[in-house]
Amino acid sequence: MALSRIDQTAVAGKRVFIRADFNVPQEDDGRISDDRRIRLTLPTIESVLKRGGSVILASHLGRPEGKGHEAAFSMAPIAARLRELSPQLAGLRLVGTRCTDAEAADAARALKAGEVLLLENLRFEKGEKKGDAALAAQLETIADVYCNDAFGASHRTDASMHALPLAFRAAGKPTVTGLLLDREIRFLQGVLETPERPFVAIIGGAKVSDKLAALRNLIGRVDSILVGGAMAYTFLKAQGVAVGRSRVQDDMLAQALEILQRAAGSRTRLELPTDHVCAAELKEGVATGIAVGPIAADMMGLDIGPATAAHYAQVVAAARTIIWNGPLGAFEWKPFDAGTSSVAAAVIRATKSGATSVAGGGDTAAAVEACGHAAGFSHISTGGGASLEMLEGKSFECLEAIDRHIEPSYS
Ligand code: AMP
Repeated sequence: MALSRIDQTAVAGKRVFIRADFNVPQEDDGRISDDRRIRLTLPTIESVLKRGGSVILASHLGRPEGKGHEAAFSMAPIAARLRELSPQLAGLRLVGTRCTDAEAADAARALKAGEVLLLENLRFEKGEKKGDAALAAQLETIADVYCNDAFGASHRTDASMHALPLAFRAAGKPTVTGLLLDREIRFLQGVLETPERPFVAIIGGAKVSDKLAALRNLIGRVDSILVGGAMAYTFLKAQGVAVGRSRVQDDMLAQALEILQRAAGSRTRLELPTDHVCAAELKEGVATGIAVGPIAADMMGLDIGPATAAHYAQVVAAARTIIWNGPLGAFEWKPFDAGTSSVAAAVIRATKSGATSVAGGGDTAAAVEACGHAAGFSHISTGGGASLEMLEGKSFECLEAIDRHIEPSYS
């Protein structure tokens, strides 16, 4: 049974409530610094409009406290960007000061085919974070179809993600996924369920503790795990290797050893960096050196070294499926982006030769983009926390509230 999708659903003359993830990074002056989440929602919106439906868009933005309208968290910059991005959205209106106010409800009920409304920040309502059924019941009355296209929020059970589709279902109305959410699930779940082998996971980032559950789920499933980033130093210290002043989670040494033992008893080869780009401090332009093996007491490892990068690139070159979560070094400071950049280049070469490559959102997407390699991946997720939870093998409650249909069988 597959999740029902918006383009398989009749929408002519219907008002479709699209729960999007427009929670984009903004500069201090409100300027949007990365509009990928907005752009990637356009196909879902356009699919409804071109088939004679109307659209009510809703999202959260930032972290208002659920105490009503706050200008700093208004969806106004999102409305402006949507109007710029698509001629079909030139007439989009941001209505009301709350998604629950009468102005919003009246505008939603008066919508005509081809029209689009944007509601104000869902998190202006205190019931949103609490998964409140009363808030859901109120929003359910303004639309005919519920469409979840908010992958970045799909590991959460906020009212608009879970109680709301349940309310639509209780009212006998369709609940479906959008095209972006569908793509995210197909890539992230698909590679885990039916990978072409060799299957390689690249896992980096700051903390072992953040990646423990993902590592446990991947051991036994993937052929290789290539570890980088600061988390590698917790593993190396656990093995008794000198790591100098590198960032280590001392309270995770036992868990790190347990992961190494688990991998050793499985089909998965877990690899740690064998050389490191080191410096006395983390800042741009600092003097660096390469440490092979142990790191001197006054130095810290800030990136995988050239030999490790070359070896990881070789493993990646032979892979048919590659997943990546977490940068391999402190990529925000040059030259500590070099390891991430050269392995990303190898992923792109592998992808060109037919491998499937999937990168998690958040820091991973930022790191790959900073290296100028984003376009060559098969898929870069729009969800940081959500993509990591998918790698952990968690099931998402909000998806249980989406209708299913039987996929045609060709056997
Ligand atoms: P995460 O949020 O766990 O994916 O971690 C990403 C952060 O880890 C980035 O801000 C990187 O700068 C940082 N990072 C990666 N490798 C290192 C390292 N070797 N030393 C210090 N910070 C690192």
